[in-house]
Order: sequence, then structure tokens, then C-alpha cells
Amino acid sequence: MGICQGKLPETPKPLNCELREKLRSPIIVFVIGGPGSGKGLHCARLATKYNFYHMAVGELLREEAKKATSSSSKIIKDIMLRGALVPAGFVMDLLTDTMLRTENAKGFFIDGFPRGIRQARLFEEVVGRPPNIVIVFDCSTETMIQRLLLRSHTGTRADDHERIIRQRLETHYTLSEPVLTYYLQKSLLRNVLGEEPSEIIFAKCCSVVDDVLKGHSVQD
Ligand code: AMP
Repeated sequence: MGICQGKLPETPKPLNCELREKLRSPIIVFVIGGPGSGKGLHCARLATKYNFYHMAVGELLREEAKKATSSSSKIIKDIMLRGALVPAGFVMDLLTDTMLRTENAKGFFIDGFPRGIRQARLFEEVVGRPPNIVIVFDCSTETMIQRLLLRSHTGTRADDHERIIRQRLETHYTLSEPVLTYYLQKSLLRNVLGEEPSEIIFAKCCSVVDDVLKGHSVQD
């Protein structure tokens, strides 16, 4: 991954035809929503059910931040503790590297991507295709804050701190609208209500994925 002098790349590296071809057949489901909207928990469950790979971008970045040998780890940590976004080029490279390392994956639930219209466009430029579908978790700000504050008591995440939570929400609201419009125009957006009972949310997500699978097998 190309790192330029104490900075993370804003521009992703291109993929050659052979690598793009590898990413042509797996089903790609983007799962987006605010922090605390419940997307991570449901992605994990969906990945088990469908035998897809759950790729949580925040988790991949936390792993990068932990690598003592990585020159980028401190920069990533600082960005995450500010509730800001890691530069799109770095995120795209991490995403495509991880997807390409996952041999023979039937599908991917990509959790927390894209955050912002630039990431949505970059994905299509680099990979050469859009996702098969985009699931968005709608959730009220109050619910998201309450859930994250509750999680903060477990101490599992350094960014579950009230000040950072508010910044993460601010980042989310600033960048998410154009992404929703973009996928709505492509008829790829499917909304789920993140405040409904868990079983209902899960069933709704499954019906979205089942529809994609049906369409996929017709094409095959
Ligand atoms: P999450 O685990 O999804 O709540 O993400 C935690 C943090 O990781 C975010 O606050 C961002 O700093 C960073 N992050 C996650 N996904 C992305 C993304 N797609 N682009 C840039 N930064 C991201």
C-alpha cells in the first residue's frame, strides 16, 4: 500500500484487468448507516447465514491502527479518535486488498462503506462495477447515541466516548445524504428500520439478499 511521507493516500491504486475480473462474480452488498445503527451486528449474522465474508471497514482500520510496524498506524488512530474519516485512497486499497486475499468468496457484506460520495464513485472506478445492492440502516440520533454510550461502558472501543460519538454522527450526517441519493437513483437502495425488533430487521435484510441471489442465479 503506497504511503506518502507521513500521509495516507487520497487516491487508490488501480487494479489490472485480471484483478478486476476476480471481483466481478462475488455478490457485493454494501451495508451503511450511522454509528450505533446496528449494521455491524446484523452483518455478522447475515455473513454466517449466507456464508459470505463480513468486511467491517472500521474493524480493518482498527487492525491497521494496532500494527506497531505500520507507519500509518498512528495517523489512523488519530483520525479515528477525532471521529473523522480515513482518506479514501487508503480505505479503497485496504478494501480491495482484503477482498482479493479472500479466495473464492461467494459474497461480501461490506459494513461501513461507502462513507461519502467520493468513496462510492471510487469503488466503481477501481473495481469496475457497482455493488449488487446497498442496505441502509435508518435509526434516530437519540437511539444511536444511547446505544453507543451503553457500549462505551464495556470499554471495547476508544472512540465510544461522548465527544467522539457526537463527532462521528456529525461526520455521518454531513456525508451520507449524497450517497443515499446516488444509490436511490441507481435503484440499488434498500432501507431497513434499525429500531425495529432484531428478528424483523434480520428478516428484512434476508429478503433483500434473497432477491439479489435469485437475480444472480438467473444471470448465471
Ligand atoms: P465503525 O467501526 O464503522 O464505527 O468505524 C470506526 C471509524 O473508522 C470511523 O469513525 C472512521 O474514523 C473509520 N472508518 C470506518 N469506515 C470508514 C470508511 N469507509 N472511510 C473512512 N473511514 C472509515
